[in-house]
Amino acid sequence: MTGMAAESAVALYDEFVKAGLLIPAGPLGAFGRGAVFEQVLDAFDALIVRRAKADGVESMTFPPVIDRQILERTGYLEGFPDLCGAIHSFVGNEREARAIPKRIADGEPWGDLLVQTDVVLNPAACYPFYPTCRGTVPAAGRQVTMLAWVYRQEPSLEPTRMRAFRVRELVRVGNPTDVLAWRDSWRDRGFELLTSLGLAATLEVAADPFFGRAGKMLAEGQLEQKLKFEVVIPILPDRPPTACCSFNYHQQKFGAAFDILLPNGDTAHTACLGFGLERTVMALFRTHGADPSQWPAPVRALLWP
Ligand code: ZN
Repeated sequence: MTGMAAESAVALYDEFVKAGLLIPAGPLGAFGRGAVFEQVLDAFDALIVRRAKADGVESMTFPPVIDRQILERTGYLEGFPDLCGAIHSFVGNEREARAIPKRIADGEPWGDLLVQTDVVLNPAACYPFYPTCRGTVPAAGRQVTMLAWVYRQEPSLEPTRMRAFRVRELVRVGNPTDVLAWRDSWRDRGFELLTSLGLAATLEVAADPFFGRAGKMLAEGQLEQKLKFEVVIPILPDRPPTACCSFNYHQQKFGAAFDILLPNGDTAHTACLGFGLERTVMALFRTHGADPSQWPAPVRALLWP
């Protein structure tokens, strides 16, 4: 980030704080959300759910921690080792435990006194769903939706880059034809939903921020095959627009990792789309102002029918 861009990111964060929308809480990217921010977030989430319900989706809720094996089996530590949040805790006896407060009192690191647990923070809302799908899915496939807090280790001054944030996700499991048609149809519906809220949205082919030199090749393949699209919206001054919604076609990746089969015995394909709720809410405040009671009537009518 250049000095200039960092300044404008901080200015925007300060503006959100001054308006009571965000609440400083210490670590970068881990601020609180004020009541008005949450009212808009709830309304936007409810709007997506109303649209999705027409398709007969199943609704699920998972906790913000998931089985560590999900990251291990899907290669997450190869693609994004720098973003993961693994949970560690203490397992020793009382005498050994006394070393922890002593280290803290001495101002020394204490992480090495803990051991890794069987859970990790969830980095993508749809991840805990796939292992539940093991076996043969119905001929029509599955459609589910979930709202989840996700974690990415990305400390940043930009208010749009959070360590923990909420994603409303929709997932489709089925044969390649149905899954791709679903992804394309929701790409159009998702884009239309955001523009109907008065947001200056643009649809782009995109790639994940894979780690390292091998990651660059993965990203190139993803772009070439058009596996990922994003709806981007201007939020930060002097910065490229921010991804607020992403549409991902995983092909057989999760089907193969978790033995999800179609009735004909083939490995199932999957796709998902996720709306970044905080980012979209920030885009709404940037576009329409800090007071939702003053927002354009058509936007209010969509959010609060
Ligand atoms: Zn997903």
